[in-house]
Amino acid sequence: MKKVLIAGLVHETHTFSASRTTLVDFEELIWLHGEDVLVRCRGDISPMSGVLSVADSLGWEYTTSSYGGALPAGIVDDALLESWWAQVQQDLKQHTNLDGILLVLHGAMVFESFTDGEGEILRRLRNVVGDCPIAVVLDLHANFSYDMACYGSIFASYRENPHTDAYAAGVRIAQLLDQVITSKKRPQVTAIKPAVLYSPRGTASAMEPMRTLLQMARQLESEFPDLLEVCVLPGFAYADVPCAGVSFCATTIGDPEQAHRLLQPLAETALQQAEQGNPLDTPIDQVMLEAMQIPDGPIGIIEPSDNIGGGTPGDGTGILQAFIKYKIKNCAVIISDPVAVEVCHGLDIGSELILPIGGKVDDFHGPTLELLVTLGGKTDGKFSLENPKSHFASLVGRRVDMGPSAVVKHHGIYILLTTVKTPPMDLGQLRSQGIIPEQLYMIGIKAAAAYKAAYDPILRASFYVDTPGLGSSDLHRFSYQHIPRPCKPLDKI
Ligand SMILES: [Zn+2]
Repeated sequence: MKKVLIAGLVHETHTFSASRTTLVDFEELIWLHGEDVLVRCRGDISPMSGVLSVADSLGWEYTTSSYGGALPAGIVDDALLESWWAQVQQDLKQHTNLDGILLVLHGAMVFESFTDGEGEILRRLRNVVGDCPIAVVLDLHANFSYDMACYGSIFASYRENPHTDAYAAGVRIAQLLDQVITSKKRPQVTAIKPAVLYSPRGTASAMEPMRTLLQMARQLESEFPDLLEVCVLPGFAYADVPCAGVSFCATTIGDPEQAHRLLQPLAETALQQAEQGNPLDTPIDQVMLEAMQIPDGPIGIIEPSDNIGGGTPGDGTGILQAFIKYKIKNCAVIISDPVAVEVCHGLDIGSELILPIGGKVDDFHGPTLELLVTLGGKTDGKFSLENPKSHFASLVGRRVDMGPSAVVKHHGIYILLTTVKTPPMDLGQLRSQGIIPEQLYMIGIKAAAAYKAAYDPILRASFYVDTPGLGSSDLHRFSYQHIPRPCKPLDKI
């Protein structure tokens, strides 16, 4: 029976964000150990669930160690890493003679002292477990590093953005680890990093350049059976760290130099496609004038600059200001604002008040708007996903907790206020609060690509808008200090 230790730590770190990510943020989302990992994850569509399903069906003798995850946000406290690592170390001491280690990681985690969070985790593990295979499943937005290639043994990654295949990636990495343990062949990992960043909007898997790059990777795997997996990783551009950017990695049981050569055309294509990987958004006034020509909705006004799934605060007021300016009726926006929610929860439904809304976390996402509103509803903010395969489910399972929430109305605008910032990845978010998305004329959506699985099926039209924010698609607006230069699209190469 194969003895495997399973653990995970998942975070996508936005290093330009003023916020810090601490243990509290992990405890709010995922912070589990031992049996609790099984209770929480079995049966959902997270990568951990995929891993566990294979571990159960293949009869592994496995231990679930620490598993943590928090929503994308600012740099993660060192203390979080040390706390996770202390528990994993303890489990490693209790469970010796392991045949393999399996980790669920994101790949773009930055700690105060370690810009390559996953590289540091893998380095520590490798020092303890010697040549025991370490298999890792990564998010597609991983900023892959050469340290990760050096200390890890097998890598698999999501292939879909929105991430509808997180469970499948978990299944694949567990099957690969099983195969490697059985065959006793030690795989090697090779990686290549072209000098290019893609903004989140450039990383949707159904669009170019990702569609072609993913096809090239699948082609290589079918032509060269020694390649266990070729990962296409467009990276997370809002990390000002040396390992940021597009990368490709291959796990091979053959010749690593050949594998490296095979990755070269992918790297060249990624570099050539730098422009398609960085589509720019349209000024919001221009979008509103065009959108208002369409008589019926729902029309999606998509705001990558406050892309909650990419680590922004979710309290940007750019779209709300535009809805007010253009007197849009029957429209909705969702804004994270715990202070406004608290005020609303102290009042009766139907109350009228002047409420300061949004723009409170930092100075990057538009001003706080003081609006005369009517309180339309108050809830505990919990809802079940309508789409159990949504991008969201890969993060949190089926139940979402936005914290206490309230709906206020300003003229024809419904404003859903949440305590916890919650990415717009499922229609249940609005419907559970009494707002029927299909009946709206316009919907403000704080996302880059991950909203698509939920919203595209109901939207008559959609427009990307350029508003102020730390998720801007224009990477020239960020003052990078630590990425290798020159780098497209920032520099001419
Ligand atoms: Zn991702």
